Amino acid sequence: MSALILVIEDETDLAQMLEYNLEREGYRTRIANDGTSGSRLARQSPLPDLILLDLMLPDISGTEICRQLKAAEDTKNIPIIMVTARSEEIDRVVGFEVGADDYVVKPYSVRELILRIRAVLRRARPSAETNEETTHFGVLRVDSAAHRVFINEIEIALTALEFKLLLVLLSRRGRVQSREQLLRDVWGITADITTRTVDTHVKRLRHKLGEASEYVETLRGVGYRFKDRVE
Ligand code: CA
Repeated sequence: MSALILVIEDETDLAQMLEYNLEREGYRTRIANDGTSGSRLARQSPLPDLILLDLMLPDISGTEICRQLKAAEDTKNIPIIMVTARSEEIDRVVGFEVGADDYVVKPYSVRELILRIRAVLRRARPSAETNEETTHFGVLRVDSAAHRVFINEIEIALTALEFKLLLVLLSRRGRVQSREQLLRDVWGITADITTRTVDTHVKRLRHKLGEASEYVETLRGVGYRFKDRVE
């Protein structure tokens, strides 16, 4: 079955153009012209496989919708591509803090958008490589079942937390992970500890990873990202 894409876009001409082009690419679509209906359609069964979310909507802001969807159990795994205008560059950062998976800047070409959509959908689907117990990535080998990590086939010792942090980053490679997301998904709590805890642990993990530390990239003011591919 082709992927179902929810487009939340208040510019009706643009929404229609997207609907036409996405369907021509073989995707199924659901269109909302304001935040309220977009928010409702995002929760409607069958759930969309991806949401294209305009940041500037007349009623609710795109970031608020994103925050709500990423906070809800049933919708938190739906990838969201945020659409921003050039002048809203700062909001890109905000977009990642609320959990957006990618963004495109208006005006964008349909071709560029389709490529982004494909890439995000591909990443959202669990890849066979990561599902297997052993993941190879450059000099790194991670045996998730045995909780063992090797760099150039030499085992390194990680704490349980560091191991979990590595697994989360690795399984979402190519995707930015905000400190808040990591706190939630690695530590499982949002209170008491601060996002600085994340920085401290990433630093320690990097130190232990040695040669493989370059795979963990820092996006200033945004969070961390495990490289998409080995260079
Ligand atoms: Ca708009």
